[in-house]
Amino acid sequence: KNLKKYFVAKNSLFRKKKTYLKAVDNISFDIKKGETFGLVGESGCGKSTTGRSIVRLYEPTGGQIIFDGKDIATLSEKDMLPYRKKIQMIFQDPYASLNSRMTVADIIGEGIDIHTDYKGKARQNRIFELLHVVGLKKEHASRYPHEFSGGQRQRIGIARALAIEPDLIICDEPISALDVSIQAQVVNMLEDLQHELGLTYLFIAHDLSMVKHISDRIGVMYLGNMMEITESDELYNNPLHPYTKALLSSIPIPDPKAKSTNKRIILEGEVGSPINPSAGCRFSSRCRYCKEICNEETPELQEIKPGHFVACHLVDDINK
Ligand code: SF4
Ligand code: MG
Repeated sequence: KNLKKYFVAKNSLFRKKKTYLKAVDNISFDIKKGETFGLVGESGCGKSTTGRSIVRLYEPTGGQIIFDGKDIATLSEKDMLPYRKKIQMIFQDPYASLNSRMTVADIIGEGIDIHTDYKGKARQNRIFELLHVVGLKKEHASRYPHEFSGGQRQRIGIARALAIEPDLIICDEPISALDVSIQAQVVNMLEDLQHELGLTYLFIAHDLSMVKHISDRIGVMYLGNMMEITESDELYNNPLHPYTKALLSSIPIPDPKAKSTNKRIILEGEVGSPINPSAGCRFSSRCRYCKEICNEETPELQEIKPGHFVACHLVDDINK
């Protein structure tokens, strides 16, 4: 709720007057238990920062992160511990996110040691069980990350996240570093695990065509702001925000005979800067509908139809 994460801009680190990079600037959304909430937008729009703030890898600059009714945004390290068990993360780069000096058993076992009572044989069996769940073998437990392919490494990362039975998993572009042939396998596995274990996902991606299949609802971010939130089907069939329309129009259609109903929208204009952004709509520099009010006031996210939220001053005119 009203989540903000600002970073001091590098070029002002040693200056008296700091400038801030407003990576996430006042966004609100909710994730329902058991659903997959897709978070999409171009790189640099603040989606990873949002995910990292939720697991408290970053300290939020402002706002609330309400988990099971409790605001965890400002909890101390000690009070945060029980929530760390409930919220886990799968990272984008399976090459960088696994410690190359640790065996697979140690990587998966680390969370087990901190958060559970499994010891000795029970701990080992739990590790074998987790390897089995993600489609690896118990013989893999004593090996090191470099002995595995990218897809296998991501399976290890998933096993690590599952090790302490979390409720919510932040999946930060978990497949974008993988070969296309492997991507579907990992996504299917994540979906199966969700059904078996009753997991809730925040699924971050820059690729709208991938989140469409996995998400129940989707939020579209642009330069640190939330532009549109609605159910997955509704977003694809009836996008209301000019930015979402442009994003959707750029998805290639796999069937060469199929005619696109949407003409491809080419965005012109400069992408604005998240450093000291000017007042008004963040998308205004690229929006062909932009009017005076767009540069003066930041549009609030409003419920246009039940469950369909849009942040655009001119949403009614544009969608007449
Ligand atoms: Fe475009 Fe204005 Fe809507 Fe922003 S508020 S998306 S600039 S029409
Ligand atoms: Mg990212």
